[in-house]
Amino acid sequence: MKLLKDYLSVRAIKVLSMCSIMIVAIFGGVATAAQSTFDIEAVKAKYSVRDYVYAAMPERGYDYFKIAENAYFVHDEFEHMVFFVTDDGVVVYDAKPDVTPFVLKVIPEVTDKPITHVIYSHHHRDHAQGMYLFPKTAKIIGNDETLKFLKIADDPKRPLPDIVWKDSHELETGGLRLEFKDYDRNWHSQSDIVVYAPQQKILLATDTFHADAAPWIHFGEATDPMMTWMLPQILLDDYPDFEFIINGHERIVPTRAHWETYKELIDDMKKITFEVAKSPAFHAMAEETARRYSDGAEHWIYKENIMTAAKMCADKFNQKWVGRVRNVRLNSVENFQMMFIQLITLNP
Ligand SMILES: [Zn+2]
Repeated sequence: MKLLKDYLSVRAIKVLSMCSIMIVAIFGGVATAAQSTFDIEAVKAKYSVRDYVYAAMPERGYDYFKIAENAYFVHDEFEHMVFFVTDDGVVVYDAKPDVTPFVLKVIPEVTDKPITHVIYSHHHRDHAQGMYLFPKTAKIIGNDETLKFLKIADDPKRPLPDIVWKDSHELETGGLRLEFKDYDRNWHSQSDIVVYAPQQKILLATDTFHADAAPWIHFGEATDPMMTWMLPQILLDDYPDFEFIINGHERIVPTRAHWETYKELIDDMKKITFEVAKSPAFHAMAEETARRYSDGAEHWIYKENIMTAAKMCADKFNQKWVGRVRNVRLNSVENFQMMFIQLITLNP
């Protein structure tokens, strides 16, 4: 995910000077005692809109704001993390190496309480290599799969968790409640988890999607594509009242509405894949391919059918989705290749 970050950095530098006054006005707020009247809709109106993706960054390279009761969102150009302030201390979700230094600057600005817990979202370096920067007194939480892969990695920047959980877990600390779940099947890594903060209505579901954008290439390096495509409906069903869904990338604050749009997009991709697979145009192409490789070169036929189908699917998809979300053309051919292989060629 580095290339896009570099691109965005260059882009942001160009517009950096434009709206620093506005940024100061927006980000001035910190925690107050009167949190019961916290306005989530105002957060969405400012930070969950496409314009915010392209807004200039402050010179310090990061920004932060409150997104729910006792919950803060810290982001740089393209990465974000969330932390919760409890009666007893601070609970941090994710340990991104790029954002953790900023989180460690922001926390003392909103509370003088210590960091009590830091949670691994999964074992990947871009989400875990900030862990060594946190105070040693903070308890590290990770699931059994994360532990397994961190042991293999043997990386001093990714210390092993102190609290290891399996299948599900609950953390109650200083009035904060977090509900952990491991779906067994993964969508992106080998150690994916979901954590829900019911009081804040924040679902922490890392590397699931990009808000207001088409999927990352190969659906975010999906380890189990079928699960990746089922996940939108699963999370909507299992967490019927979440307001935000924190995925770890982009500065836009992802909402339930973004997730619903993403579900619609995935459903549309599936529909297009089946339509193309059944279409006379695809079958005519497949027959032509078979004739061309009549010497029995099955490898070529297999590949060309996938490539052609993906191109046909992408053309249909792009017509419908360009403009509706960002980056539609970028990965559509590659992603339809994956979807066609899984849904049509393998036909589970
Ligand atoms: Zn990852």
